[in-house]
Amino acid sequence: MFRRILCVVSALALALVGTVTVQVLAPDRAAADGCYTWERTLQQGANGADVTQLQIRVAGWVSSGENLALDGDFGPATAAAVKRFQAGYGLPQTGVADSATYTKIYELQDNDCTPIHFAYSEFDNNCGANNYLGGKVSEATAKENIKRIMWQLEAMRRKLGDRALNVTSGFRSVSCNNASGGSSTSLHMYGQAADLGLNNPAQCTLWNAGKSAGFEELLGPGYPGHNDHVHFGNKASRSWSAPNC
Ligand SMILES: [Zn+2]
Repeated sequence: MFRRILCVVSALALALVGTVTVQVLAPDRAAADGCYTWERTLQQGANGADVTQLQIRVAGWVSSGENLALDGDFGPATAAAVKRFQAGYGLPQTGVADSATYTKIYELQDNDCTPIHFAYSEFDNNCGANNYLGGKVSEATAKENIKRIMWQLEAMRRKLGDRALNVTSGFRSVSCNNASGGSSTSLHMYGQAADLGLNNPAQCTLWNAGKSAGFEELLGPGYPGHNDHVHFGNKASRSWSAPNC
């Protein structure tokens, strides 16, 4: 949208002053992307808020059982995740966040910093309220948490062969969670969980895929109440259960 407005402005400027000003309208390189622009190459040893932004986007590219810390410190685990991200998209596996890596990330994200295959609206039904209000955290925190999940799911989607994933539940207010029969400690009230419904790929394939996308809470077939969806959550301790898988 932002770029479109810029184009309209440029076209207006051209119309007003004539074609001799074409050189003045050279692309503005101040920002490479409408969401977030990295200003430097990042590699092991780097730290800062730009590292955290990178970590959010590669957090789904971990090994099985690994959970990448979003701590702003570019250590070996971040380098390994960057390598897997690069491999996943056919880029040179340098483990360094270089221009090719950023270009791919820019391609993958919308202007609100969510990945292109997921949107806040998919995770906000909230029993019909269609917002991120009434949970156990602020609206801003709930959306930030959901954005983190979206990037993990974007990685999972890619690893599953670019399969579309069907989100059946995301954020829930406390009252919505109660009405849905959710656990009193449900991560859905924090925006730290999402459910994927039955589709192709099969449910157990989804459950297993979550293990290498950084999810510590994975509940699937055979776990009470989870025979028609898989639950993916972010928390510090591990709860993986799908007795029928
Ligand atoms: Zn759930």
